[in-house]
Amino acid sequence: MKRWNGWGDESNELDYELSSAALGFLEGLIGKSAPLADASLKQVLATVPQSRLPGHALYSVDAEDRMRHARGQSLPDWLALRSGEFGVFPDAVAFPETSEEVRDLLHHARENQIDVIPYGGGTSVVGHINPEEKGRPVLTIDMTGMKQLMSLDKASQIATFGAGTIGPDVESQLAAEGYTLGHYPQSWELSTIGGWVASRSSGQQSMRYGRIEQMFAGGRIETLEGTLDIPTFPASSAGPDIREFFLGTEGRLGIITEVKVRVTPLPAQEAFHVLFFPSWEVALVAVREIVQNKMQLSMMRLSNQLETFTQLKLAGSARIIGLLESYLKMRGVAGEKVMFTFGVTGSKGQCAAALRLTREIAKRHGGVGAGAALGKKWEHSRFRSPYLRHGLWDAGYAVDTMETAVDWVRVADAAAGIQSDITHALEDEGEPVHAFTHLSHMYGQGSSVYTTYIFRCGSSYEETLERWKKLKAAGAEAIVRFGGTISHQHGVGKDHAQYLPSEKGELGIKAIQGLVKVFDAQQQMNPGKLLP
Ligand SMILES: Cc1cc2nc3c(=O)[nH]c(=O)nc-3n(C[C@H](O)[C@H](O)[C@H](O)COP(=O)(O)OP(=O)(O)OC[C@H]3O[C@@H](n4cnc5c(N)ncnc54)[C@H](O)[C@@H]3O)c2cc1C
Repeated sequence: MKRWNGWGDESNELDYELSSAALGFLEGLIGKSAPLADASLKQVLATVPQSRLPGHALYSVDAEDRMRHARGQSLPDWLALRSGEFGVFPDAVAFPETSEEVRDLLHHARENQIDVIPYGGGTSVVGHINPEEKGRPVLTIDMTGMKQLMSLDKASQIATFGAGTIGPDVESQLAAEGYTLGHYPQSWELSTIGGWVASRSSGQQSMRYGRIEQMFAGGRIETLEGTLDIPTFPASSAGPDIREFFLGTEGRLGIITEVKVRVTPLPAQEAFHVLFFPSWEVALVAVREIVQNKMQLSMMRLSNQLETFTQLKLAGSARIIGLLESYLKMRGVAGEKVMFTFGVTGSKGQCAAALRLTREIAKRHGGVGAGAALGKKWEHSRFRSPYLRHGLWDAGYAVDTMETAVDWVRVADAAAGIQSDITHALEDEGEPVHAFTHLSHMYGQGSSVYTTYIFRCGSSYEETLERWKKLKAAGAEAIVRFGGTISHQHGVGKDHAQYLPSEKGELGIKAIQGLVKVFDAQQQMNPGKLLP
C-alpha cells in the first residue's frame, strides 16, 4: 500500500538515509538542523471530521480513505502530512472501475450539488487535488481502479488504457506485447496515464518518445455535460484540436476515463552516458549544438557547477570520485566542471551513430568522457531521488524544486537568476539555502530549467511553511521576470495559479474560463485549480 505520509510504498524498502559524509557536506553548507516531530496515523485519523455526505453505495465516507486522498506531494502537502494539520478533507472517495461508473458518479454529483476532484496517483506537486477550504461537499474520484491495457492496435501503434493505470503497469502490459510508451516522469512509480494527460506531463526520455501531448492520441472523457469520445487521427487540419482542450486542464473539464496513446516497439538497445565539460558556458553551447543538430538522443541533462559538485559529493565513494576528479583534471576539466548525462535508445545502428556524433560535438567543446559507471548509476537511481526526501527530512532539512522552460536566448540568464533569487530568499532571517540547477528536456528552441533547493526546517511547522512561501515566491517571480513558463512539467494547480495570467494574458484566461463554462457551468469540477 502507498505510504500515507510520504513517497513510495509503506514497506519503506527504497528509502535511504543520508550518509554521514552527505550530512556533513550539507551541514557545512547550510548548518546543522533538527527534525520536526511527525504526527502518527492515529492522531491524524482522529482529526477527520464527519463527512457532509451521507453514506452511499457509489462512494466511501471512511475516514482513512478520505485522509489518504486529501493531500498530494507538494512541500506544503508534505508539511501537512507530517504535522497532521491537514486542513480540509474530501467528504467521500469513489473508486470506479469503468467509464459507466464514472458517468453515474458525475450524474450523482450534478444532481446533488457535490464538487468533484479527479484523482490519479496523487503525485501532484502544486496542490492539484486538495479540496478547497470553503464550498460544497467534495467527492474525490480515485481512478486507479481503471488500470488495464484495453486494446492495442499494432498496425497503427495505438494503445488504449484505463486512465488510472500507473507507470509500471503501463510499461509491463505493453512490454508483454513488445511495445513501450516510454513516458518516465520521475514520479512514474505512482502517477497515472490520465494524470499525465491532465497535467501535461513530461518524461525523462521525452527527446525520443515525446511529451505526453505528443503521445496522447484521443480517448474518452466523462463530463457533467455528457460523454466525449475523441477519435484518433494521424493528423488533421479540421479546426482546433479537441485533445488540446483537455491536455493540462487539471480535472476542470471532466474525467478522462480512457486514454489512447501512440506507442513504439521496444528498443533493441539503451544506454546512458556521462561526460564532463570544462565550464557551464562552454557546455551550454555544446548541448545546444547537439540538440539543434537533431541528434537521436533519448535524454539529456546538463547539471550546472553547483549541481555537479553536489551530486559528486552525494555520490557515495569518496575514493572513486577522487580518482575521477584527478583523471578529469589531467584532461583539463577541473574546478568549473559541469556534468552532462545523456541517453541513447533505439536500434544498434541508431545508438552507435548518436553516441559517436554526440561525442564528436562534445569533444570539440572540451568534453571528456567519464566511463560507464556514472551513466549506469543515473539509470539505477532515476526514480530514487524522491526517496531522499525522507532521509533529508529525518535530518531536519526540506527539499523542493522550481521548474520552467525558456528559449535558448534566455536560458543562461534565467538559470542563473532563478537559482540566485532562491538562494537569497531567506536572507532577511539569515538562513542560507543550497540551490542548484540543471537543464533537461532540451528542444531546438530552448530548454527546461530545473532548480532544486534544500533549506533547514524552522523550529515549527508554521515557520517551515513560511520559509517555503518565500522561496516559492522568489522562484516564481524570477521565472516571470525571465519570460519563462510558470511550469514546464508540474502544472499549475493551486500554487502556480496566480502566475498564469502573466503568460496567458487577460484574453487567454477568459478563453480558458469560457471552456470551463461549456463543460461545467456550476464550477463543480476541481474548483480553485488552474485558474486564478
Ligand atoms: C517526486 C516527484 C517527481 C515528479 N517528477 C515529474 C516529472 O519528471 N515529470 C512530470 O511531468 N511531473 C512530475 N511530477 C509531477 C506529477 O507526478 C505529475 O504532475 C503527474 O502527471 C501527476 O499524475 P497523477 O496521476 O499523480 O495525477 P494527480 O496528482 O492525481 O492529479 C493531477 C491533476 O490531474 C487531474 N487528474 C488526474 N487524473 C485525471 C483524470 N483521469 N481525468 C481528469 N483529470 C485527472 C487531477 O484532478 C489533478 O488536477 C513529479 C512529482 C513528484 C512527487
